[in-house]
Amino acid sequence: MDLKAKIKEVTRQLTWRVEYQPNNTKDLEILSNPETKTHTIYVPDNPKDPVGPLEHLHELAHAVLSERDLFLAGGVYDLNIQDHRYNLVPAIRAVDDWWADYLVDSWCPDEARADIADHLEMIYKALQFKAIQPHEFFGIALIIAEGIYYCKAEITLPGHLQPAVQAFLDHPPDKPSREAAEEIAQVLFDVTGINLKIKFIESDGKPFWTVEKKGE
Ligand SMILES: [Zn+2]
Repeated sequence: MDLKAKIKEVTRQLTWRVEYQPNNTKDLEILSNPETKTHTIYVPDNPKDPVGPLEHLHELAHAVLSERDLFLAGGVYDLNIQDHRYNLVPAIRAVDDWWADYLVDSWCPDEARADIADHLEMIYKALQFKAIQPHEFFGIALIIAEGIYYCKAEITLPGHLQPAVQAFLDHPPDKPSREAAEEIAQVLFDVTGINLKIKFIESDGKPFWTVEKKGE
């Protein structure tokens, strides 16, 4: 598969404008704005490794999904979550990536699966040497779920990773929905002991992820 040709093809199919902006981030990142109908892709101006075409396709997958449904235009978070941003943002990102990587896999399965296998290898090593922080936990659960789903990896999971990985697998990645996103993100919070309810809301046509105290 010619990944560069695929990048061009996917970009052509988008309806919103795509902009590239240099940024001091570590990785490629996309922000899709439904109001201005713009996808801004932030490109690290000083990357440790060169940005690969697979990462580029991953960001474009977010763009395709954002045009399909507002709740998939990630990156917009309610202002009242400041204290919880540290956990909410990576939880929502992991769920958004579950949907996005399904598209990437449908575009270039060989390359996508080789990449998942590489990541799994790194995770195995990391799990042996250090305790996982909550914000890392979400991404790790995602990669393991992808390893099982796409690479048929057989994995024995440490205790609390099990329900988190299962939460992804219980919601097929080809069927993104608001309910499914809330359910997966909620399990991620519950198993890491974050005692808050995650909700998606729409206000004035703008998408927001927010949290509230349980029972409210
Ligand atoms: Zn992503």
